[in-house]
Amino acid sequence: MSENKDFLRVIIEEDLKSGKYKEVVTRFPPEPNGFPHIGHAKSIYINFGIASEYNGRCYLRMDDTNPTKEDTKYVEALKDAVKWLGFDWGNSVHFTSDYFPKLYDYAVELIKMGKAYVDSLDEEDIRKYRGTVTEAGKRSKYSERSIEENLDLFLRMKNGEFKDGEHVLRAKIDMNAANMKMRDPILYRIRHAHHFRAGDRWSIYPMYDFAHCLSDYIEGISHSFCTLEFENNRDIYDWVLDTLGLKSQRPYQYEFARLSINYTVMSKRKLLELVEGGQVDGWDDPRMPTIAGYRRRGYTRESILNFCDQIGIAKANSTVDVAQLEFCIRDDLNTKVPRVLCVLDPLKITIENYEGHEEIDAPYYPHDVPKDGSRKLPFSRNIYIERDDFNENPPKGYFRLTPEQPVRLRHGYIITCKKVIKDDNGNIVEIKAEYHPDSKSGDDTSGIKVKSAIQWVSAKEAKTVEVRLYDRLYSSESPESIEDLNPDSLKVIKNALIEPAVITEKPDERFQFEREGYFYADPIDYTDEKPVFNKIVGLKDSWGKKTKATQNTPKPQAKKVQVDGEVVAMNEVQKRLFNKYINEHGLNNEVANTLARDETLSSFYEKAISSLNSPISIANIVANEVAREIKENQGSQLKFSAAQIAELIKMVDDEIISNKIAKVVFEDMAKSGKNPTQIVETKGLVQISDPSKISPIIDEVIAKNPDNLAKFKAGNSKLLGFFVGQVLKATGGKANPKIVNQLVAQKLK
Ligand code: ATP
Ligand code: MG
Repeated sequence: MSENKDFLRVIIEEDLKSGKYKEVVTRFPPEPNGFPHIGHAKSIYINFGIASEYNGRCYLRMDDTNPTKEDTKYVEALKDAVKWLGFDWGNSVHFTSDYFPKLYDYAVELIKMGKAYVDSLDEEDIRKYRGTVTEAGKRSKYSERSIEENLDLFLRMKNGEFKDGEHVLRAKIDMNAANMKMRDPILYRIRHAHHFRAGDRWSIYPMYDFAHCLSDYIEGISHSFCTLEFENNRDIYDWVLDTLGLKSQRPYQYEFARLSINYTVMSKRKLLELVEGGQVDGWDDPRMPTIAGYRRRGYTRESILNFCDQIGIAKANSTVDVAQLEFCIRDDLNTKVPRVLCVLDPLKITIENYEGHEEIDAPYYPHDVPKDGSRKLPFSRNIYIERDDFNENPPKGYFRLTPEQPVRLRHGYIITCKKVIKDDNGNIVEIKAEYHPDSKSGDDTSGIKVKSAIQWVSAKEAKTVEVRLYDRLYSSESPESIEDLNPDSLKVIKNALIEPAVITEKPDERFQFEREGYFYADPIDYTDEKPVFNKIVGLKDSWGKKTKATQNTPKPQAKKVQVDGEVVAMNEVQKRLFNKYINEHGLNNEVANTLARDETLSSFYEKAISSLNSPISIANIVANEVAREIKENQGSQLKFSAAQIAELIKMVDDEIISNKIAKVVFEDMAKSGKNPTQIVETKGLVQISDPSKISPIIDEVIAKNPDNLAKFKAGNSKLLGFFVGQVLKATGGKANPKIVNQLVAQKLK
């Protein structure tokens, strides 16, 4: 941060150097009409962060000038958020409402100077008279009122003698001003409403443009930071202070870009709608972009502050990728939290050649985390593994347990499948297995080759826990309304099984459930009888792939989906298909379920795999992209065939194109009906894997980002991901991500 200062810090340093101010005084001025969101975190970070960096002060000021929308519960939420982020507002919270008497006096002073008048036009005429950007405005005839008359009317407005809207107080500035905001802005309006702090004392309330600059002045603010949408209000800010002659040590306003994040709505009004509409469980629902929501979800303050630091301060608005925020929390937890074993969808395993019981010593932290600590993992004849970690008819590249392929139990032994037990419907209910006594992790002399290690728990000692799998609240990149909500933003698993030490030892509140993601003991619902864990974030970004498929389909409002209680039973045909897809094709539950339940999709899928034996990839594209096309083109013929989908997937399998490009090609096919191979050739979409072609692009990206390079060299290793992302972007997604990763890592060494 020290070499490259943002423009706000540059201004501050100049002002301190020139002696314009002796001390930096800032404020964070929210309106208490909702819970603060991640955009407010940025503002808090800027205002409090800058003040403390320059040994100044920052106040927390409730900008409570709108009596009908404000509430003490929001005041408390704002205080909580600022405190949780680690900032201190000093002795007391400030309130604009405490300045109402002073503000009134300033207004009277303006009237006496002939610089303000009581206008009695109605709202519509006020708007009409204001003119437009291309037409001058017209001053109201009431602007001719004498000072005495104005003083009298204003006093009576204050005393509650008039109805709402009957009069307003306006500044007398310039009805021809190019800046529309300067065309005699309204300073006060009549509002017969109860104020949560000022009570019923006031019948008039000041407008933002009048109250804000004066509150800043009253508090001795030096630098008043706000977001860009207030740029045009700056002229009024200056006019009010200058006209009142408040010149010495007066504050100045500076605007910075507001934070917006894709897949996220960032307006208290829209968030309030979700809360009131019941689409979420309150302001602190872990899917909400509120600070309370992130906190309950399990985000750490460090991750939020780090994010605010990374996005920086700019003068132009832009949208930040939500993946960057998710990256920050993953990155923070990676070096902090214990790794433990939890099974979300348990499949019973009986180890027939094991009798007795033992306790396996297992470290909580991997080698590269600078933390010590371990626990005992009970091991016995009866254990559970994740249902997805066994496959009777594995597709190519399946590395976990199969009838032919042994697998390692994480920290424990290697097991081999001996027999698969099924119920009458053909569902697998149990695996009979054998363990290899000489294969214990860390002391393995068995010589058996396995390709992966999976999580497991001992049946007797495992604890039942509820796991809430949270995902992004919206499936649309720029969400507008509740239509864009992601219906799968919450899945509740009632009966997950976790190793006992997590519950009995409570080594932390946050964990990595190995191979699943990061989780947090829910601060509200967790009890010893019913432990509840929230998913904070997955181990890697899985959204790049998922989003396209859901983006354009209209969504009903988000609802809780319970994983363990099926919604509608399948008929016999569907059940048979479903079992075949799971057991023979190796599809996951979700995809198998989508295909089996939809005849059009399953027959399309069957056709495609008859031309190419790549069931998992084909099933994925059929269940997502193809399904979406079918839905959107209801009735009309698709422009592509099952064989062409197979042709497309073959190019992915052969590594001619990346997954990402496959999506691009698919969009083209769906529109134009062209052959995938032809599209790839004419558009030049072949994946770039040649290091000599990728290298110069990396060099260019590095050269363009000296700041991030310096931060990386100074130990900020998380910026590796940033560089990889930039390179992929620069190649339009054509570069082979694996190779880019390797090359970037080499070059940054
Ligand atoms: P909302 O539209 O969500 O209600 P707001 O701007 O009306 O936001 P305020 O409570 O008035 O919210 O804002 C308090 C401070 O936080 C202001 O200085 C405002 O500029 C800043 N702020 C609000 N939203 C953002 C954002 N998305 N990014 C950065 N700063 C923000
Ligand atoms: Mg607002």
